[in-house]
Amino acid sequence: MAHPRYIKSGIRIYRHRSGKGANRIRFLAWKDSVEFIRRLWTHMDFGACLMKNWNEPCPICEDAKRKVSKGKKYRALVKQGILLGKNPRMLAQIIDRNEEETGVQLWDVAGSEVEKALINLSVHKDTGLIVPWTDPDYGCDLIYDYDSAQENPEPSNLRRSWQSKLNIELYDGAMDFDEDIINKMSYEKLAAIYAEFSQQE
Ligand SMILES: [Zn+2]
Repeated sequence: MAHPRYIKSGIRIYRHRSGKGANRIRFLAWKDSVEFIRRLWTHMDFGACLMKNWNEPCPICEDAKRKVSKGKKYRALVKQGILLGKNPRMLAQIIDRNEEETGVQLWDVAGSEVEKALINLSVHKDTGLIVPWTDPDYGCDLIYDYDSAQENPEPSNLRRSWQSKLNIELYDGAMDFDEDIINKMSYEKLAAIYAEFSQQE
């Protein structure tokens, strides 16, 4: 799997393991933040959308508009990543509890279903208390299944572990989302990457 262009090179990306309960991760809060999930709108492999993420002119959105006005079908454009679909990416930095020595990795999944499942898991049903996912002493891990043989495999059957301690030193690698993770391209750079694709078409 190629490194996605919307993530800075050098950031280690978590690879889902196939199997029931094969994935067990601990979310870390972003640096200087209490949040641990961030959304990112992407034009698939081209890069992050400048319009939807940062409210700046985006060359791909501009071309999508042109194509729509010429009668191109929405669905085809979404499939190619030219029009944004319904789901942003969801990004989190995590520790792989099955391989902690690897250190902080980036968890990058398609949003919506996973997000809903996570929200459901974030409240204790019996007490109504919010689950402190990222707490080193009282936090929980996320456990899920994955099946790489599926066409569009995504984490499934998400569940919460019991509270467990995480070695506090592992938190030292916590990164800043905007500065350390996201590869925000200039208008020109994104346009150039997109133009290369358009020529192949
Ligand atoms: Zn865009």
